[in-house]
Amino acid sequence: PLPVLAVVGRPNVGKSTLVNRIIGRREAVVEDRPGVTRDRVSYDAVWNGRQFTVVDTGGWDPDARGLAAQVAAQAEVAVSVADAVLFVVDAAVGITDADEAVVRVLRRSKKPVVLAANKVDDQRAEAEAHGLWNLGLGEPQVVSALHGRGSGDLLDAVLAAL
Ligand code: GDP
Ligand code: MG
Repeated sequence: PLPVLAVVGRPNVGKSTLVNRIIGRREAVVEDRPGVTRDRVSYDAVWNGRQFTVVDTGGWDPDARGLAAQVAAQAEVAVSVADAVLFVVDAAVGITDADEAVVRVLRRSKKPVVLAANKVDDQRAEAEAHGLWNLGLGEPQVVSALHGRGSGDLLDAVLAAL
């Protein structure tokens, strides 16, 4: 079986957009309306000749109470089947309660984590990612899933973690 990368994070940070970058196809469903991706969906990916499986996550109701708990529970299941985790945050928004809940799950799991600071669409926005060092998850990989910015370096970091 191929190594598994789980992509986790709260709704609307750009997980599915980033999954499409990673697999090089537009298969993961991206929506302006949060919470569209259903549960867990797996895709085959290859980078520098190495194959792996990417698991996109979603399926929670962003309007429901206790979003942080829902997101953390979903991350917990995805992380349990993963060899490494890609934790996506929205650098423009910063860290929310739901992000903190995911961080606790990741710490407990002791799995290798790559931190993606998404929605850094231009150089001006890069400063927003610096505060993410405080999460204690290592260097934030600064990316724009929308434009493809930083995706090569991100994938190098993912392969190093898998
Ligand atoms: P998910 O809920 O985490 O899977 O997020 P999606 O991939 O569905 O994206 C949610 C919204 O954020 C969509 O409108 C995307 O087009 C937008 N988005 C995703 N990545 C980026 C990015 O790098 N920059 C900007 N500006 N928007 C993005
Ligand atoms: Mg999604």
